[in-house]
This record gives sequence, structure tokens and C-alpha cells, in this order.
Amino acid sequence: MTVRVRFAPSPTGYLHIGGARTALYCYLYAKATAGTYVLRIEDTDQARSKIEYEDALIEDLKWLGITHTEGPDCPAVAGPYRQSERNNIYKKYSDQLISEGKAYPCFLTEEELIVLTEKAESEKKAPHAYHGEYRRLDPSEAKKRIEAGESYVIRFKNPAKKVTFKDLVRGEVTFPEDMVGDFVIIRSNGLPVYNYCCVVDDYLMKMSHIIRAEDHLNNTCRQILLYNALGAELPHFVHVSLLVGEDKQKLSKRHGATSVSKYKNMHYLPSALMNYLCLLGWSHPEEKDIFDLETLGDTFTLERFSKSPALYDIKKLNYFNEQHLRKLSVEEIDGYFSKVIPTDHPYHDQTKEWRLCFTELYTDKIQLFSDVLDFLPDVFTDTFSKDDNYNDVITWETTRPLAKYLKSELEKLDDNSMPSKELIDTWMTHLKKELKIKGKALFMGTRIVLTGKNHGPDLKVLVSLTKVSTLVQRCSLALS
Ligand code: GLU
Repeated sequence: MTVRVRFAPSPTGYLHIGGARTALYCYLYAKATAGTYVLRIEDTDQARSKIEYEDALIEDLKWLGITHTEGPDCPAVAGPYRQSERNNIYKKYSDQLISEGKAYPCFLTEEELIVLTEKAESEKKAPHAYHGEYRRLDPSEAKKRIEAGESYVIRFKNPAKKVTFKDLVRGEVTFPEDMVGDFVIIRSNGLPVYNYCCVVDDYLMKMSHIIRAEDHLNNTCRQILLYNALGAELPHFVHVSLLVGEDKQKLSKRHGATSVSKYKNMHYLPSALMNYLCLLGWSHPEEKDIFDLETLGDTFTLERFSKSPALYDIKKLNYFNEQHLRKLSVEEIDGYFSKVIPTDHPYHDQTKEWRLCFTELYTDKIQLFSDVLDFLPDVFTDTFSKDDNYNDVITWETTRPLAKYLKSELEKLDDNSMPSKELIDTWMTHLKKELKIKGKALFMGTRIVLTGKNHGPDLKVLVSLTKVSTLVQRCSLALS
């Protein structure tokens, strides 16, 4: 079987994390099977669909590395790939269904529909029980009413049979025969509804697998009825579990950042986001957690999906970001630092050598590139707030002479320079040999005086990255 899968977003907003995961699964499955991954834009909701959103979706998918080979921006034989450009196709098939007696025009007005729904409810029947009023209307009568300008929709003539299918994640699924009534396939404005155009497209575009989130499971009932009516073979359905927040509710804006563009703007690594999303509802056969998608190859199979909802946890995502970040070169990390640090920050005035040294010093201390902002004051701020540790160490009898000595040595240097590591070694030797300050008193004392903190990265490197004027200020603070 030739695998053809599609991601079919509606361009009514920015790409959601959940959508990105669906797209990823489609992409990975196509890749694993040497199949084709298609992007189809479902823009039949004219009021809400915007070309800006479509452009942004394509841009975000590209950033994530989920590349399609067929889509609105790379047309091929199964196109057009924008539903708004396929109305003649939907019309052709709805005409065919009508002529075969499988669909019919319905002239119920809004008011009549309300009355019929209330009637059904009062008789404890499904709300759609009376939607089939016009299923037996003589076609010539229907034609006359249409020609007279009466408003109508096209409804599917539901054969009212139980629908059963085997979902590759959820197993056998059965929908009762009264699950849906004679549902609308074409609205009164001539536009098709999602369930109808989705089936026409999946059929004509020869989709072999429909991979999407579980919230579309119920739509499968209407869709299978339509496949049957069109005489089309059913694709394989793969309904992956939903992403939920800590409250077990479907992931939404109130759970924090949910659009891919937000993560892009926060400079998350796309490889980390993809790696994390891949494991939300799917597991690696070798239980690997950190990997590059490119290495998955044919290990990505449809058997490893979980049925339970997947908990989206930003703390875990940050951990994945940290692991992926560690694989980058110092130059690459410096490149990201340069993006997250405000342009007017003195970081940008430092030499490349200085920046790489600074970057190396902090790489294993960050999960996100923006975490560097917390560390910049270590070298760029003259003063710091004195915490308990500071106040304690500063009272040691060795700390004052130590600070005095360091200050006097620093004052011999150019304010704008930075002390070399060799010079710092000489000071330490002097403190040890001449002032007899050793061990904890020496190391902790020097660190507290020069950095304000009792722990941090390699002290010698850190001090060699700090301006003399800053270090002098800090010594004065210790002596005040
Ligand atoms: N346009 C639908 C959505 O964005 C596609 C659903 C499907 O994959 O069938 O949810």
C-alpha cells in the first residue's frame, strides 16, 4: 500500500501545539513508510479563515522541520490543496449523490428546525429525529422550489445503519444507528460542511491513513457514511489521544503558551519541541527519550500510540530543551544568546572571545536561552543585594583584609580592563602565602567579595570576564 497522509488545518488561528503534534505524526509516518505527507488547507469557514494564518501555519511547520511535498505552496496532481478552491468538486459530488438518491435538497427554515428539534426532545428522541422531512420530496418539486429562489441546504440521506470500524489506536468503535440523522453536507450559501469536504478530499487525494486527534472520533461516523455513499474504500483511521493540561482538560490558552509561534518567539529549539511532542502519546521502541526525529526512520510505527490522554507539561519541555541545547556548539549558543539579550546590553560590545568564554561558562546552567538573562548581572552589575550568606561570610575576620588586598590590586589596573587568569592566580597565592588565608576562608571569601554569591561557575573564569571597575565597586561594598 502506498501511504498518503495529510495534515488538514483550518487557517483560523495560529498553529496549536496539538496541531503540530498531529502534523508531526503524519510527517513521521510518511517518512517511515516512504509515503507522501500532504498539507491541505481547510478554509471553508470564510468568515474566520485568513491567508495570514495560512502563511503563518506554513512558516511554523517549516520552522519545526515538518515539510510537506504536496500543498498549496507546492501543488501536485491531487490539488488544489485549499478547500476554497475546490467548490466545483464538492458540487459535482453532491449532484452525484442527489442523482443517486443519497442526498436531497431540504427547505426547512431556521424556525421550522427549532420547532422540530423541540418536538423531538419532548418525545425523548434524538434532536435530529425530524430533520428528514424533505427526504421524500419529489425531485421535480424540489427543482421548482429551487428555481423559484427558495433557500435550501443539501442533506445526506442517512441509511440509519450502525457504523463500525477499527481504529488503529482505539480498536473497534461502533456508533449507534441513530447517532446522526440526515445531516447537512452543503449549506444554504452553497458552501460544504467539514465532514463532507473532508471525505471528498481524502477520497480524491487518495489518503491511506487519517491521523488526527481523538476529538475528531465522532466525526468519523458521518464520514464513514459518506465514504460508503461515494462507493469509496475506507482509509485507516488513527485517532491519537488528546493533549491535556494539569487539570486533565484539553490543552487550551489557559494552560499557558499553546501556539507554536510563542515557542518560536521564546527561542525554544524546534528539535526539542518536536522530540517532546513526539513522546506525548507515542513511545520509542527502545524507550529512548532524547532523540532527533531524523534518526527515527522506520522505528516510527502506528503500534506505539497510547490510548490515554497525554499530559502537556512545560517543565518537561524545558528539560528536553536543555538536553537539545547541550548538543549545540558554543558558537551556536552564543548566536541564540545574542538574540535573547536586549540589543542595548553591553554583552553585545564584548569581543567574540569573551562571549564564547562566557557562553561556555553558563551552558550547563540553562534550560532556555533566555535563562542567560538571570546570569548577566554576575558580570555586568556593580552591586548586588546582600543575602544571608553574604552577610555571614563578610563578617569572617579574614574577609576584610582579603577584600582590602583585592581592591588595592584591582586599583592598579585600568578600569575598563579585565584581570587575566594568571593575575588572579597571583592574588590567590599572595592571599594564601602572605595573608595566610586558606581553604574555605580563601575561596568562599573571594567568591563572596567579588561576585556576591557563595556558589557559581568557575570563579577564576568568571572574574576574568568582569570589568575591573565592577570588581572594585564590589570590594568597596564588602568593605562598607
Ligand atoms: N480541519 C480540521 C481541523 O483542523 C481537520 C480535521 C481532520 O484532520 O480531519 O481540525
